[in-house]
Amino acid sequence: MALEPATSGARSLTREEAETREALLEVVRYDIAVDMRGLFEGEVLEATSTITFRCRQPGAGTFVDCAAEVRRATLNGRELDLGTVSEGRIPLGDLAAENVLVVSSAQHDTASGAGILRTVDPSDQLVYVWTSFEADDARRAWACFDQPDLKAPHAFTVLAHESWTVTSNGAPTTVEEQEDGGRRWTFPDTPPLSTYVVVVNAGPFHELREERGDYSLGLYCRQSLRQYLERDAAGLLDITAAGLAFFGERFGQPFPQARYDQVFVPNMGGAMENWGCVTWSDSVLFRSPPTYGQRERVASVLLHEMAHMWFGDLVTMRWWDDLWLNEAFASWASTWAAVNATEFTDSWATFLAGLKLLGYQIDMGPASHPIRGDVPDVAQAMANFDAITYEKGSSVLKQLVAYVGEDAFVEGLRAYFREHAWGNTRLTDLMASIAKASGRDLDGWTEAWFDRAGTDTLVLRGREVLATAPGNEEPRPHQLEIGAYRRTGAEGGRLQKVGTTQVETSGSRTPVEGLPEGADLFLLNDQDLTFAAVRTDEKSLDTMLESAGGLPDAVSRALAVSTAWDMLLKGELSTDEVLTCLLGVLRSERSPGVVEPFLAMALKAADQWSPAVAVPTQLARLAEVAAALAEVPDHRAPALRTLAASATTTEHFALLQAAGADDNDLAWRVLARRAALGEYDATAVESLLERDPDPDARVRALGVTAARPEDSAKAEVWSEVWEKHSIPSGSPLFGLAQCFWRPVQHDLLLPWAHRYLDEVQGVGGATGGMLAVGSLLRSMMPTTADEAFLSRARELAQDPEQNPTVRSVLLTGSDALSRVLRARG
Ligand SMILES: [Zn+2]
Repeated sequence: MALEPATSGARSLTREEAETREALLEVVRYDIAVDMRGLFEGEVLEATSTITFRCRQPGAGTFVDCAAEVRRATLNGRELDLGTVSEGRIPLGDLAAENVLVVSSAQHDTASGAGILRTVDPSDQLVYVWTSFEADDARRAWACFDQPDLKAPHAFTVLAHESWTVTSNGAPTTVEEQEDGGRRWTFPDTPPLSTYVVVVNAGPFHELREERGDYSLGLYCRQSLRQYLERDAAGLLDITAAGLAFFGERFGQPFPQARYDQVFVPNMGGAMENWGCVTWSDSVLFRSPPTYGQRERVASVLLHEMAHMWFGDLVTMRWWDDLWLNEAFASWASTWAAVNATEFTDSWATFLAGLKLLGYQIDMGPASHPIRGDVPDVAQAMANFDAITYEKGSSVLKQLVAYVGEDAFVEGLRAYFREHAWGNTRLTDLMASIAKASGRDLDGWTEAWFDRAGTDTLVLRGREVLATAPGNEEPRPHQLEIGAYRRTGAEGGRLQKVGTTQVETSGSRTPVEGLPEGADLFLLNDQDLTFAAVRTDEKSLDTMLESAGGLPDAVSRALAVSTAWDMLLKGELSTDEVLTCLLGVLRSERSPGVVEPFLAMALKAADQWSPAVAVPTQLARLAEVAAALAEVPDHRAPALRTLAASATTTEHFALLQAAGADDNDLAWRVLARRAALGEYDATAVESLLERDPDPDARVRALGVTAARPEDSAKAEVWSEVWEKHSIPSGSPLFGLAQCFWRPVQHDLLLPWAHRYLDEVQGVGGATGGMLAVGSLLRSMMPTTADEAFLSRARELAQDPEQNPTVRSVLLTGSDALSRVLRARG
């Protein structure tokens, strides 16, 4: 991501430049010597990159990327004039057919997290360093041709302090003591990789390793979190082994190296699919035992990054305009694998009730864009990382699987990986493989689903499905199911499935055959195969709102609930109606895969979508349901967390007090809730800080401050986030933001909402790189505002001078807020 000063002075590579360079060069290999000894006490990463490459037109010129201090550069033994280095590029003239380029460089900025981040653990002062290069930050660490379609083997040697462990894309071949201090880690040649998926991490990591089948699986974390990694290791290794087996079989080729490591690092937002060495935000090593939903989310990320080993690393998009395909595919594949190869068998329902709703929400607003976009330069690539890329993209792939059949889809994938292994592709290559395997022409389908924005609406009227598309365009073809249900017993009771019909729509009217008579509910898009807003007849809607909890499977219940949510977003149902439906479902919900997303939706409805005067009552309704659910052992932890956010009565607080005695996470939530109600307890915060071993406990304490309805408290937190950049990204920041933005504190928060718009215009100083900046902007987006805020936000979103990611977050965020404000009335 080209956020300043991350790539300050370095020019963003354009698609045309990349095409020209790819046509000219073939990179034979990279030999990269990295010296990380300067990071033990200082801040400098040094590297010497030796690039062996061929030129198809001897005599021609090009440039190599190096957004660091270039100390020396030679091309075929000839010294290059460092005076010509500018904007992160070293011009290379008069190339030979066979070339060797050697560039020594030093990166002094290892604190901003752009490509490289050095972190000092606040609890023990130990230093950890990670790298993460997507999209074009490898050039900040060493000289390289930093574009995805110039793949080459990389061979790393890394000098590091003797107390440090170094992890990279494969297993080290040797680790040798150095006479002048430190150790030298030598890694074997990687397969041909794009520059953005190589990695070097270092620090005094805690390492766990287990042999599973043909694989050596490693897990790493900082010392201060070892107890949490050890607690979760068995589960992580189980999913890792299951995923490697599942994908290896389904994709028609096993992951081709024995070593598969996962390194949990501080201060990273998200996770990154480096070949054989995935880096993760260590905020997923939860400081209280994770709930089912948290474990499911971790499994989903684990399988997502693993799917990238095939789709992204083995076969890589030619240019960033197909980055969405990487992300959409990995997201689809992770849910597919979770359902088929892990304990998380309701993951499609979880996906629908959580992430897919984000895709629908963006797609109905001004930030909607076609899934496949135009990416003229790398800076633009990251602005497209949103719920359209991940959630809508993966939903459309799920629809494609329904459209061609899973067997044909898998056969197409196998052919695609076989044919393009270690190469680069475009979308058309994938679609050609699937078309061939399925015998269906997919050209029109591809254009309709990937090149057009917006969501179709499907309505069941009588015995016809009526389809409309935004902008009066031709509706897309939809492969879907309609489930027919009949009530058994009293109202609010069970719904029994009495029939299912498969429909493939074409155009705006499609007749439906085989629907049974006398059903109480026709559930359109049952099993959630397609991506569409669905509406049924009035009787079905009434049944759905009253009795969604009586539907027999979790995906159907999630579909009912998400349809109600879609109607709330569009102003067709009131918050009260939707909350009533949700609470009804929650009273009897027992699938752990949807309990947490439903609780989260209900909390959102009660807390953010209700008029200020109704918030206490709505929270109290939710608190009653959460307290009852806390009696069910499987749902106790998430129910108590929801109760901590909604507690109103002394009974609620008594229940929480008892449960929080040995649960630090819950205890922090309760203190924050009390603080939000004006009952800040400094002594309790101090004593919990002493008791909690979490290195991020101070952020939890700050969260309690953030919840207080006091301007001075808000100011203190604001300064930590925006001026001192002291909050680790990922869940610590997100949790803090949740505490800060309390919609009932509307008047107090209004000036801070406007401050947000000031801050985002100079967001460059944020720590943690591309993922972290996105996480900062999204986390801190206000959840309460006024019309003046909305119009300023919309104006900034249109301003071409603003960073593309800022614009995209403001566009999405202001649309979401305007819907909330309408619902609040
Ligand atoms: Zn991904």
